[in-house]
Amino acid sequence: MDPGEYDACTYCGKTIFPGVAECPYCHHYTDGKGPLGTDAEEPRKLSPLYVTVGWVLVILTVLPLLWALWRAFTR
Ligand SMILES: [Zn+2]
Repeated sequence: MDPGEYDACTYCGKTIFPGVAECPYCHHYTDGKGPLGTDAEEPRKLSPLYVTVGWVLVILTVLPLLWALWRAFTR
């Protein structure tokens, strides 16, 4: 089946004709804002991987500074 010929309802996931305003199965409007929609206008959440890498970079930057300060004050 050519995926270009059919569309999937973003609410119930059933195959519907593209361009229809209302899903014939669940009667939701096919505006792409359903739970299965990919273009929902929610703010993108940061991937946990990026958060972890960011924290590692911060720690790697701050730790030598703290170490140098500690060495300077304890000498
Ligand atoms: Zn539907």
